[in-house]
Amino acid sequence: MYTSHYDYIVIGAGLVGLSVAYQLKLKQPDCKILILEKEDNVAKHQSGHNSGVIHSGIYYKPGSLKAQNCISGYQTLIDFAQEHNIAYDICGKLIVAVSPKETAALNNIYQRGVANGLTGIKYLNAEQIKEREPHCAGVEAIHVPQTGIIDYPAVATTLLKIYHQLGGESRFSEPVLKVTNVKDTVLVTTSSGQYLTNKLITCAGLFSDRVASYTEKGNDLRIIPFRGEYYELKKEKQYLVKHLIYPVPDPSFPFLGVHFTRMVNGGVEAGPNAVLAFKREGYKFFDFSGKDCWDTFSWPGFWKIVAKYGKTGMGEIYRSLSKSAFTKALQALVPEIQEDDLVPGGAGIRAQACDRKGILIDDFNILKRNNIVHVRNAPSPAATSSLAIGKYISSQI
Ligand SMILES: Cc1cc2nc3c(=O)[nH]c(=O)nc-3n(C[C@H](O)[C@H](O)[C@H](O)COP(=O)(O)OP(=O)(O)OC[C@H]3O[C@@H](n4cnc5c(N)ncnc54)[C@H](O)[C@@H]3O)c2cc1C
Repeated sequence: MYTSHYDYIVIGAGLVGLSVAYQLKLKQPDCKILILEKEDNVAKHQSGHNSGVIHSGIYYKPGSLKAQNCISGYQTLIDFAQEHNIAYDICGKLIVAVSPKETAALNNIYQRGVANGLTGIKYLNAEQIKEREPHCAGVEAIHVPQTGIIDYPAVATTLLKIYHQLGGESRFSEPVLKVTNVKDTVLVTTSSGQYLTNKLITCAGLFSDRVASYTEKGNDLRIIPFRGEYYELKKEKQYLVKHLIYPVPDPSFPFLGVHFTRMVNGGVEAGPNAVLAFKREGYKFFDFSGKDCWDTFSWPGFWKIVAKYGKTGMGEIYRSLSKSAFTKALQALVPEIQEDDLVPGGAGIRAQACDRKGILIDDFNILKRNNIVHVRNAPSPAATSSLAIGKYISSQI
């Protein structure tokens, strides 16, 4: 027997779920709304284990949901941070070609930036790179002045606080176990009870496929978890990096490559790599879950990824196990960096959706079915875009 009836229930208190709930409450102040989260606090997974970068929108295919929501989410996020005194810094970044072979790909990124309406991005030659980042080696770079850094856990905590002030309800440490359609409503069963809702929005990150499969039989996307591990630069070597330094990414791979990020609360991170994880929320190399591995290895698309990216994947595993290999990747951008300059940092796990054919889904994937919306793929830059995604979903539902 259900205990309460809501207008909306949102599953997941990461940045996407919190933004959806916040935007719904702003739009419909009288609505009765509940967030259900399995952890004891907000941002315990991707939203609290990321690089902390405010992306500019330069990389994304013009017209894609990523491009649209990153560009509109960028300004909304900055306005939100200003209004609520959240630490952020628009410090700009360099995307650096380290050999002439990379300049064509660099030019493609530049063209995308122009097509996405970014102003002020400009090419730097080797000398100009040194003026901005004296220790960075590159033959050519793009300077992206819009890129910044922010405290995403503070954004999440603030969103929850305002949502509560607006009258929204939340229940933590309450995993959702089942979702059933009951006439025109939806019955949500958790570890502690049952709730009826007129509309449901699922924003379950690393478990988005499993939660979607409660109502989507024959779900055609599977989450393949990729761990991203970081090192931190020792304090005395942080002078080697002034802002953010990124490589030219492999265009066939949905990750940006190991980079240097100055963090908003101090320090410089190097990473993340992208290693297949044997547990969806396992932050260490040997963390293992039989169920999560079964979900990965039984998915036909996974084996197609192995065939396509096997060599890249092995390189990532090698870099994960060998600090000297990781250092070597970083030395391409900043040759002075030595193994001893790096100390182990944190890790995050990316929820990357993959279809049966082995296509790693690049764009955000938001599936609407009657009174349910499933966010099935919200990888980077979904933290930057979160307030825009929330607005988009609240207007769709
Ligand atoms: C290593 C790394 C670096 C990144 N860097 C950046 C960056 O610099 N800039 C950027 O814009 N983006 C970045 N991203 C991407 C960004 O962090 C994510 O896209 C974004 O946080 C996704 O938010 P989310 O709310 O969808 O997922 P999450 O933050 O993972 O939240 C999902 C929530 O759902 C909950 N949940 C799952 N199943 C259930 C259930 N059954 N019942 C109840 N609750 C459930 C989980 O506990 C979790 O709290 C990065 C990601 C990673 C992993």
